Amino acid sequence: MKIRVLGAFGGEGLGHRPSSFLVNDKILIDGGSVTGALTVPQQLAIEHAIVSHAHLDHVAGLVYLTETLAFCEVGAAVTISSIDPVITTLRGSVFNNVLWPDFSKIPHPDVPVVKFRTLIEDVEQRVSDLWVTPVAVSHSVPAAGFVIHDGSTGVIYSGDTGPTEALWQTARGLRGLRAIILECAFPNRLGPLAQVAKHMTPALIRRELDKLPPDLPVWIFHVKPQFHEEIGEELAHIDSSRVSILEQDRTYTI
Ligand SMILES: [Zn+2]
Ligand SMILES: [Zn+2]
Repeated sequence: MKIRVLGAFGGEGLGHRPSSFLVNDKILIDGGSVTGALTVPQQLAIEHAIVSHAHLDHVAGLVYLTETLAFCEVGAAVTISSIDPVITTLRGSVFNNVLWPDFSKIPHPDVPVVKFRTLIEDVEQRVSDLWVTPVAVSHSVPAAGFVIHDGSTGVIYSGDTGPTEALWQTARGLRGLRAIILECAFPNRLGPLAQVAKHMTPALIRRELDKLPPDLPVWIFHVKPQFHEEIGEELAHIDSSRVSILEQDRTYTI
């Protein structure tokens, strides 16, 4: 499995793009940034987007991707998959002909640019050539993490979450897991804010490590750009042999 980091951050800044990963060149895991990280031919190769939740730093890139797909001549389309409340929000609050055109009916309802698919929680489902299990996590809006597997290797993707349990339990005992992609948004001094917004800090990650499947590397994403250095220093004190921050634009092969 090839995982390209299109956006590694929990916000946007100069050279910092919001969270998005491209698996095997054709499946997005979240879409905070897409078009700003890929050429048009690379965008046209995208067939699926698996979305953790509807916050803009995870979906904003999808709206521009749909525009690229709509105006090309090859009939490209993307299927956006997530749990029910996330699909409902994307339909009703994003692709609603107010904030953005309803590309699920453009250019024609029979051959739209966007298709929506509701994933069933806690059930392993086929998305393209991957197996995906959505598991609800603890965030300020309905959100899922995912266990993503290609039959031989896989990763656990947290999406946005504070301390959680079910996702780690789902992954326990699964063969072929290679890494945990875990969010961290705020430095330790903003712990109270992290608690309200339901995000991780390095101190919370230190406690979370005991619950995670052992021996897997923990790859951090979703650091807010303004805290990058501070969070990096705090994470380095946890377990630098196990915990590292993902590098944007790098491709990880597992
Ligand atoms: Zn986020
Ligand atoms: Zn969020």
